[in-house]
Amino acid sequence: MNSIILDELYKNLGKYVTSDKMCKRLGISRIAVWNRIKNLQKLGYKIEGKRSVGYILKEEAKDILIPYEIKRRLNTEMFGKRIEYFRLTSSTMDEAEYLIERDENVDGTIIVAEEQTSGRGRQKRKWLSPQGENIYVSLIFKPNNMNVSDSIALMFAISIAIREALSDFGVEDAKIKWPNDVMVGDKKIAGVLVETKSESGVLNYAIIGFGINVNMSQMPEELKDKATSIKIETNTHIDRATLLSNILYYFENLVKMLTKQGRRSIFDLWRKYNNTLGRRVEVITDKDKFEGVAKDIDENGFLLVDTGDDVKKVITANSVRFLQ
Ligand code: ATP
Repeated sequence: MNSIILDELYKNLGKYVTSDKMCKRLGISRIAVWNRIKNLQKLGYKIEGKRSVGYILKEEAKDILIPYEIKRRLNTEMFGKRIEYFRLTSSTMDEAEYLIERDENVDGTIIVAEEQTSGRGRQKRKWLSPQGENIYVSLIFKPNNMNVSDSIALMFAISIAIREALSDFGVEDAKIKWPNDVMVGDKKIAGVLVETKSESGVLNYAIIGFGINVNMSQMPEELKDKATSIKIETNTHIDRATLLSNILYYFENLVKMLTKQGRRSIFDLWRKYNNTLGRRVEVITDKDKFEGVAKDIDENGFLLVDTGDDVKKVITANSVRFLQ
């Protein structure tokens, strides 16, 4: 119902729409319309009402991250055709899993939250997710014909998509750290997480999650030295719905490229945008700890580190730390 009101107001942006017209379109009373308008005002819409004239939307919404605003901006065929929105949730990854369990028809669905109480990174590390300033999203993707080993390519693809969209908003020098961070200099601006389910090597689904620091103007003490936001980098307040729809657009195109041309095409782009290759790193895995120069990624996207004695292949690491 809110979307009918917003459709009507947007169609007449800057002009009054009579209450009668609203009542007729919605089939509800004047009081009921007024209550809904009040809710929209609370969300941040600049709507004014005048007795015996009606309602006017004064300007386009700025940074209201509700499905209606995301959909208005979307330019995709697949991702975002269904949007599940939460003001508060434990984690969009949990919501995605829950949705997949109870609904078959979820391919392309995105789950968006304004705040997460248990946002997570790799290995259940906490992703700080304060309310109303950032982007926390999980995307459900059920590919037709992908292998479980393509999941790194999906992780790289979403990182590249975020990097491209950041550049649209003035953060031009974002780089991707192997395996899953988007960074500006030595500070993290976004994190990416891909969780998958497969059978006999075939990918059933992937949940592609990302958190981006957007309008936070200050980092909390514990992240001050290692995190940044678009606001801190550019000093501008960003419309998150536009940022998100740009990311989905880029990601969809990268997924098409991955499907048509294979993962090598994604890996080449990753190589172009990474900040890891050529640097001296310390790698800690469950079994090992070593230092060396990050030489390249292999045909699976695993990191190849030259320790001087040999070249180690890093499939997964607890930490990859730059030493220079
Ligand atoms: P590292 O901590 O070395 O970056 P990682 O890249 O594996 O490890 P992730 O699992 O991707 O880390 O993300 C979790 C980590 O990111 C947390 O341990 C914390 O250091 C950092 N972090 C948490 N919330 C944020 C945030 N909103 N912005 C930037 N960094 C964050």
